[in-house]
Amino acid sequence: MAIRIDSKIIDYEVAKADAERAKAPGNDIEQMHEKLQRPETLEGQTYKIKTPLSEHALYVTINDVVLNPGTEHEIRRPFEIFINSKNMDHFQWIVALTRIVSAVFRKGGDCTFLVEELRSVFDPRGGYFKRGGRFMPSLVAEIGDVIEQHLKSIGLLDENTLDAHQQAYVQAKRTEYDSRQAPVSHAAADCEDSTNGSPYPDGAVLCPRCHTKAMVMMEGCLTCLSCGESKCS
Ligand SMILES: [Zn+2]
Repeated sequence: MAIRIDSKIIDYEVAKADAERAKAPGNDIEQMHEKLQRPETLEGQTYKIKTPLSEHALYVTINDVVLNPGTEHEIRRPFEIFINSKNMDHFQWIVALTRIVSAVFRKGGDCTFLVEELRSVFDPRGGYFKRGGRFMPSLVAEIGDVIEQHLKSIGLLDENTLDAHQQAYVQAKRTEYDSRQAPVSHAAADCEDSTNGSPYPDGAVLCPRCHTKAMVMMEGCLTCLSCGESKCS
Protein backbone atom coordinates (compact mmCIF):
# COMPACT_ATOMS: atom_id res chain seq x y z
CA MET A 1 0.00 0.00 0.00
CA ALA A 2 1.42 3.39 -1.00
CA ILE A 3 1.14 6.33 1.34
CA ARG A 4 1.53 9.79 -0.09
CA ILE A 5 3.56 12.09 2.16
CA ASP A 6 2.73 15.71 1.49
CA SER A 7 4.64 17.33 4.32
CA LYS A 8 8.41 17.53 4.71
CA ILE A 9 10.08 14.44 6.22
CA ILE A 10 11.95 15.56 9.33
CA ASP A 11 12.78 12.21 10.92
CA TYR A 12 12.34 8.55 10.24
CA GLU A 13 12.76 5.28 12.06
CA VAL A 14 12.81 1.66 10.96
CA ALA A 15 9.93 0.50 13.09
CA LYS A 16 10.57 -3.22 13.05
CA ALA A 17 14.30 -3.31 13.82
CA ASP A 18 14.06 -3.07 17.59
CA ALA A 19 11.20 -5.51 17.85
CA GLU A 20 13.13 -7.98 15.71
CA ARG A 21 16.26 -7.60 17.75
CA ALA A 22 14.30 -8.02 20.95
CA LYS A 23 12.50 -11.12 19.80
CA ALA A 24 14.31 -13.44 17.47
CA PRO A 25 11.97 -15.03 14.93
CA GLY A 26 10.36 -18.20 16.14
CA ASN A 27 10.81 -17.59 19.86
CA ASP A 28 9.72 -15.13 22.49
CA ILE A 29 12.95 -14.89 24.44
CA GLU A 30 13.43 -11.33 25.50
CA GLN A 31 16.93 -9.85 25.41
CA MET A 32 18.20 -6.59 26.82
CA HIS A 33 17.46 -3.69 24.46
CA GLU A 34 17.11 0.07 24.58
CA LYS A 35 13.34 0.17 24.34
CA LEU A 36 12.82 -2.11 27.32
CA GLN A 37 10.44 -0.39 29.70
CA ARG A 38 11.74 -0.02 33.23
CA PRO A 39 9.61 -2.15 35.57
CA GLU A 40 8.23 -0.31 38.60
CA THR A 41 10.54 -2.18 40.95
CA LEU A 42 14.00 -3.56 40.40
CA GLU A 43 16.21 -5.67 42.61
CA GLY A 44 19.77 -4.66 43.23
CA GLN A 45 22.78 -4.46 45.48
CA THR A 46 24.45 -1.54 47.19
CA TYR A 47 28.21 -1.63 47.65
CA LYS A 48 30.12 0.55 50.07
CA ILE A 49 33.44 2.00 48.97
CA LYS A 50 35.70 3.46 51.63
CA THR A 51 38.83 5.12 50.37
CA PRO A 52 41.62 7.09 52.00
CA LEU A 53 40.78 9.91 49.56
CA SER A 54 37.69 11.02 51.46
CA GLU A 55 36.35 10.67 54.98
CA HIS A 56 32.94 9.88 53.53
CA ALA A 57 32.15 6.51 52.03
CA LEU A 58 30.73 6.13 48.55
CA TYR A 59 27.65 3.94 48.05
CA VAL A 60 27.23 2.33 44.66
CA THR A 61 23.86 0.77 43.83
CA ILE A 62 23.42 -1.45 40.79
CA ASN A 63 19.88 -2.58 39.97
CA ASP A 64 19.12 -5.53 37.74
CA VAL A 65 16.21 -6.41 35.52
CA VAL A 66 15.08 -10.03 35.28
CA LEU A 67 14.13 -11.00 31.74
CA ASN A 68 11.89 -13.96 30.91
CA PRO A 69 11.15 -14.57 34.61
CA GLY A 70 10.01 -18.03 35.56
CA THR A 71 11.14 -19.57 32.26
CA GLU A 72 14.25 -21.58 31.45
CA HIS A 73 15.55 -18.46 29.68
CA GLU A 74 15.42 -16.35 32.82
CA ILE A 75 18.38 -13.98 32.82
CA ARG A 76 19.44 -11.21 35.12
CA ARG A 77 21.03 -8.15 33.53
CA PRO A 78 22.28 -4.91 35.10
CA PHE A 79 19.89 -2.06 34.32
CA GLU A 80 21.06 1.06 36.16
CA ILE A 81 23.72 2.38 38.51
CA PHE A 82 23.51 5.09 41.17
CA ILE A 83 26.28 6.53 43.26
CA ASN A 84 25.71 8.36 46.51
CA SER A 85 27.97 10.07 48.98
CA LYS A 86 27.99 12.85 51.52
CA ASN A 87 31.01 14.12 49.68
CA MET A 88 29.64 16.24 46.84
CA ASP A 89 33.04 17.38 45.48
CA HIS A 90 32.77 15.69 42.12
CA PHE A 91 29.03 15.35 42.00
CA GLN A 92 28.46 16.44 38.39
CA TRP A 93 31.11 14.04 37.07
CA ILE A 94 29.75 11.20 39.14
CA VAL A 95 26.23 11.81 37.85
CA ALA A 96 27.56 11.93 34.28
CA LEU A 97 29.42 8.65 34.79
CA THR A 98 26.39 6.87 36.26
CA ARG A 99 24.16 8.03 33.40
CA ILE A 100 26.56 6.80 30.77
CA VAL A 101 27.15 3.46 32.50
CA SER A 102 23.37 3.00 32.91
CA ALA A 103 22.92 3.77 29.20
CA VAL A 104 25.51 1.10 28.32
CA PHE A 105 23.67 -1.40 30.55
CA ARG A 106 20.33 -0.65 28.87
CA LYS A 107 21.71 -0.78 25.37
CA GLY A 108 22.15 -4.54 25.82
CA GLY A 109 25.07 -6.54 24.50
CA ASP A 110 28.33 -7.08 26.30
CA CYS A 111 28.90 -4.57 29.09
CA THR A 112 31.82 -6.34 30.76
CA PHE A 113 34.32 -4.09 28.95
CA LEU A 114 33.31 -1.31 31.38
CA VAL A 115 35.27 -3.04 34.13
CA GLU A 116 38.64 -2.77 32.35
CA GLU A 117 37.89 0.70 30.97
CA LEU A 118 37.18 2.15 34.40
CA ARG A 119 39.92 0.17 36.08
CA SER A 120 42.59 1.65 33.88
CA VAL A 121 41.83 5.21 34.93
CA PHE A 122 44.76 6.61 36.93
CA ASP A 123 44.40 9.50 39.34
CA PRO A 124 47.28 11.95 38.70
CA ARG A 125 47.54 12.44 42.49
CA GLY A 126 48.43 8.75 42.82
CA GLY A 127 46.39 5.82 43.96
CA TYR A 128 46.28 3.88 47.21
CA PHE A 129 46.39 0.37 48.59
CA LYS A 130 43.29 -1.45 49.71
CA ARG A 131 43.10 -4.09 52.40
CA GLY A 132 44.62 -7.25 51.00
CA GLY A 133 47.45 -5.33 49.32
CA ARG A 134 45.63 -4.50 46.08
CA PHE A 135 46.61 -1.25 44.41
CA MET A 136 43.74 1.02 43.39
CA PRO A 137 44.89 3.65 40.88
CA SER A 138 41.82 5.91 41.30
CA LEU A 139 38.29 6.22 42.63
CA VAL A 140 36.98 5.53 39.13
CA ALA A 141 38.94 2.26 39.12
CA GLU A 142 37.25 1.41 42.40
CA ILE A 143 33.85 1.86 40.72
CA GLY A 144 35.06 -0.48 37.95
CA ASP A 145 35.91 -2.97 40.67
CA VAL A 146 32.41 -2.76 42.12
CA ILE A 147 30.87 -3.32 38.67
CA GLU A 148 33.08 -6.39 38.27
CA GLN A 149 32.00 -7.70 41.67
CA HIS A 150 28.37 -7.21 40.68
CA LEU A 151 28.73 -8.82 37.25
CA LYS A 152 30.37 -11.80 38.94
CA SER A 153 27.52 -12.06 41.44
CA ILE A 154 24.90 -12.21 38.67
CA GLY A 155 26.96 -14.62 36.57
CA LEU A 156 27.95 -12.30 33.71
CA LEU A 157 31.63 -12.66 34.59
CA ASP A 158 33.50 -15.71 35.80
CA GLU A 159 34.08 -15.84 39.53
CA ASN A 160 37.68 -16.83 38.98
CA THR A 161 39.85 -14.86 36.59
CA LEU A 162 42.41 -17.69 36.61
CA ASP A 163 41.64 -20.98 34.92
CA ALA A 164 41.95 -24.26 36.82
CA HIS A 165 45.52 -24.80 35.58
CA GLN A 166 46.66 -21.32 36.65
CA GLN A 167 44.97 -21.72 40.04
CA ALA A 168 46.79 -24.99 40.62
CA TYR A 169 50.09 -23.33 39.61
CA VAL A 170 49.60 -20.40 42.00
CA GLN A 171 48.54 -22.75 44.78
CA ALA A 172 51.62 -24.93 44.25
CA LYS A 173 53.89 -21.87 44.32
CA ARG A 174 52.25 -20.69 47.53
CA THR A 175 52.70 -24.07 49.21
CA GLU A 176 56.31 -24.18 48.07
CA TYR A 177 56.96 -20.68 49.41
CA ASP A 178 55.27 -21.36 52.75
CA SER A 179 57.16 -24.61 53.25
CA ARG A 180 60.47 -22.78 52.94
CA GLN A 181 59.61 -20.21 55.56
CA ALA A 182 60.49 -20.77 59.18
CA PRO A 183 57.54 -22.08 61.23
CA VAL A 184 57.43 -18.61 62.83
CA SER A 185 55.74 -17.26 59.71
CA HIS A 186 52.79 -19.55 60.37
CA ALA A 187 52.23 -17.94 63.74
CA ALA A 188 52.50 -14.59 62.01
CA ALA A 189 49.92 -15.68 59.46
CA ASP A 190 47.40 -16.03 62.26
CA CYS A 191 47.51 -12.33 62.90
CA GLU A 192 47.07 -11.41 59.24
CA ASP A 193 44.75 -8.60 60.14
CA SER A 194 47.52 -6.73 61.85
CA THR A 195 49.52 -6.75 58.62
CA ASN A 196 46.99 -4.72 56.67
CA GLY A 197 44.78 -7.76 56.05
CA SER A 198 47.05 -9.05 53.32
CA PRO A 199 46.91 -12.79 52.68
CA TYR A 200 50.34 -12.54 51.07
CA PRO A 201 53.73 -12.75 52.81
CA ASP A 202 55.29 -9.72 54.47
CA GLY A 203 57.62 -7.92 52.13
CA ALA A 204 55.81 -9.09 48.99
CA VAL A 205 56.11 -6.50 46.25
CA LEU A 206 53.61 -5.08 43.78
CA CYS A 207 52.75 -7.28 40.81
CA PRO A 208 52.61 -5.28 37.56
CA ARG A 209 49.94 -7.56 36.15
CA CYS A 210 47.31 -7.88 38.90
CA HIS A 211 48.31 -4.81 40.95
CA THR A 212 48.53 -6.80 44.17
CA LYS A 213 51.42 -6.80 46.65
CA ALA A 214 51.90 -10.53 46.16
CA MET A 215 55.25 -10.96 44.40
CA VAL A 216 57.91 -12.92 46.29
CA MET A 217 61.41 -14.00 45.27
CA MET A 218 61.57 -17.73 44.49
CA GLU A 219 64.64 -19.31 42.88
CA GLY A 220 65.78 -15.98 41.54
CA CYS A 221 62.38 -15.19 40.06
CA LEU A 222 59.85 -12.70 41.35
CA THR A 223 56.70 -14.80 41.40
CA CYS A 224 53.20 -13.48 42.00
CA LEU A 225 51.23 -15.58 44.48
CA SER A 226 48.00 -13.96 43.30
CA CYS A 227 48.03 -14.31 39.50
CA GLY A 228 51.10 -16.41 38.81
CA GLU A 229 53.05 -13.70 36.95
CA SER A 230 56.78 -14.46 37.01
CA LYS A 231 59.78 -12.27 36.25
CA CYS A 232 63.28 -13.72 36.42
CA SER A 233 66.16 -11.44 37.22
ZN1 LIG B 1 49.94 -10.79 40.06
